[in-house]
Amino acid sequence: MTTVALKDVTKVFKDGTVAVDSINLDVNDGEFMVLLGPSGCGKSTVLRMIAGLEDPTSGAVLLGGELANDLPPRERRVAMVFQDFALYPHMTVGDNIAFPLRLAGVEPTPRGERVTDVASALGIGDVLGRKPSQLSGGQRQRVAMGRAIVRRPGLFLMDEPLSNLDSGLRAELRAEISGLTRELGVTTVYVTHDQAEALTMADRVAIMRKGVLQDVGTPTQVYGRPATLYVAAFLGSPRMNLLEASVYVHLDRYVTLTLGEQALYLPWDDIRSRAVAHYHGERIVVGMRAEALTPVAPDSPGDVLRGRIRYLEHHGHESLAFLDIGATAIVVDELGVRPDNPDTGQRGLRRFGQVMQRFTGRTSEGE
Ligand code: ATP
Repeated sequence: MTTVALKDVTKVFKDGTVAVDSINLDVNDGEFMVLLGPSGCGKSTVLRMIAGLEDPTSGAVLLGGELANDLPPRERRVAMVFQDFALYPHMTVGDNIAFPLRLAGVEPTPRGERVTDVASALGIGDVLGRKPSQLSGGQRQRVAMGRAIVRRPGLFLMDEPLSNLDSGLRAELRAEISGLTRELGVTTVYVTHDQAEALTMADRVAIMRKGVLQDVGTPTQVYGRPATLYVAAFLGSPRMNLLEASVYVHLDRYVTLTLGEQALYLPWDDIRSRAVAHYHGERIVVGMRAEALTPVAPDSPGDVLRGRIRYLEHHGHESLAFLDIGATAIVVDELGVRPDNPDTGQRGLRRFGQVMQRFTGRTSEGE
């Protein structure tokens, strides 16, 4: 299947908008890569340049290792699936799926066989005679997929293909799409602004902001070890706690980490000390995910961060506590808090170093 490599790819539109700014990205053979970012960050423009629908202003687009900048879209062996599915309303499901084969001059008999195969693989074999208006949203989405895979593309490009569907169907189809593309082994680049979609579907996620690539990695990597403050603040719900802190390394080998008004004294062999020790004398931003903070009794001994619960939020499977720990508020997973018996007293927080990150910079950059 087709690999994709973007080398210093930039797109500046005629009005001066820099939609994509010097992006470098490799998509491996058979990989499911998700481009994630807020509206307007340049995801669709990247996809359109891979498809050949937009020319890069500079840089190189390589498909299967070959320079593709001047290759017309139809010679790229790519299939695109859009948000609105773009089905032909006057054609039956069968004719919609067969359409790319007709364009390619495939004879009626092999064409019919291929359409039947694809439709049955997608579970829409029984609606081949219907028009798109007689289908459910999920079925229409499958027809669009069918039309995309019928020519056995080397590369799938999908631009928010689920965004017009209700949330139940989205969840169902995202498993189906990622399952299907893996079964077919087709390299896929999938654009979305929905992080749940990105984290559940992707082999790797590429996160963009204002035309610039911020981070690329597996869902576990970008969630657990975000490369930038922006990614740390962007990924995850609730968002990562980001606290400004100062670091002081004492000669007798312990570290003071001051978070707001609270100072924590960490022994030298604590992994949190090693993570921050080379920022001696600096102000840094420390990231802590809610699920990495363990609530303990406020009078617990040791390196405990103390706070007062401002309010609790119950989500059925978990409860979140929003705490004031001085000048800042943070959010914590409160295990075992019962909605009918909210205890809104004080909390000590321990083990917050578990996935503690250190970022240099200020939290405002993460907004
Ligand atoms: P969305 O999720 O809203 O589709 P996106 O991340 O896919 O957003 P793009 O559609 O790639 O973003 O757009 C990136 C930037 O380029 C935006 O600021 C957009 O307004 C701008 N842009 C896109 N197409 C053009 C164009 N033809 N001319 C000028 N600017 C454009």
